[in-house]
This record gives sequence, C-alpha cells and structure tokens, in this order.
Amino acid sequence: MKKAIITTALVLLIMKKAFSKSNSAKFANITANNDIRECDPKGCGHFGANRGYNADGTRRYHRGIDLVANENDAIKTPFDCVVNRYGYVAGDKAHQLIELQGVGGFKDYKAKIMYVKYNNNVNVSFSKGEIVCYADDIKQKYGTSITPHVHVEIYKKGVLIDPTPFVS
Ligand SMILES: [Zn+2]
Repeated sequence: MKKAIITTALVLLIMKKAFSKSNSAKFANITANNDIRECDPKGCGHFGANRGYNADGTRRYHRGIDLVANENDAIKTPFDCVVNRYGYVAGDKAHQLIELQGVGGFKDYKAKIMYVKYNNNVNVSFSKGEIVCYADDIKQKYGTSITPHVHVEIYKKGVLIDPTPFVS
C-alpha cells in the first residue's frame, strides 16, 4: 500500500515536470539566455513598451521583445523553420531582418528577428535551436546608451502575439 502511494506520487511528479516542460520550453532560446532588454535611455525592451507617436499622432507601442545581444553573438532559431525573407528593416537601409517560417509542429508560427547579419540564402531550412545568424551593431544608429539587442516579433497564424511566454 505504502509502495503504491509512493509510486503514484512519483508518477504524478514526473507528469507534472513533463507537462510544465512542454509548456515553457516550446521554443528554443534565441540568444544565449533570452535576457530581455531592461529600460535604458532609449527605451524599454518588453512587449507593448511605449514608443512615442506615429506621424498621425496615434501612439506607438513596441511590437516585439528585445533580447540582449552583443554584435556577432549567435542568434538561434526558436523552432524548426525555413528562412523565407532576409532584407532591410522598413525605412532603415542600415539594418536587416530575417523572417523564419515555422515548419512541422511549428507551422502556425513566424518569427521576425531584426538587427542581424545572415550569411546564407532564403529558402534554407534550420532546425530548432540551430544558429541561423548573428547580431548586428545597433550602436551606430541608436548611440552608445542603448543596450545592444535583437528585436523579435512572433506571429501566430499571421497575427502578432506577445512573445514573452515563449522566451521566459
Ligand atoms: Zn524592439
């Protein structure tokens, strides 16, 4: 009887561990530690952070999350994917972004990672957690007071979502 109780408790513990792991570790780390940029003189790195105003006077909010990365730090894929775009950030001919379309169990997801250097072609496949590109130098554009980072946006079925649960 006692043995049965212990066995049941053990099974429950293993199940709980497996379940929480499948929830929190769905995506692989994009940077070494997935550290989110804290507030610096240029702004804050969390999703929805204030970004001033658009030209038409409406408020602007941070559409992604900033992950701390120094120039040339490795950037890894959060999921199995194909690189479906590599090009300039809108209105910015100094910085590039990479777009990763999820495949297999991740086909609903798309990730845009900005301020990167990529030395390969589009339509190349990468496995979850594989190095896909390297962080660029953003201090040239934003000055030395900004925390170096890559900007990450996650889309699910084409809709922008808060990526925080996937990187924590
Ligand atoms: Zn950002």
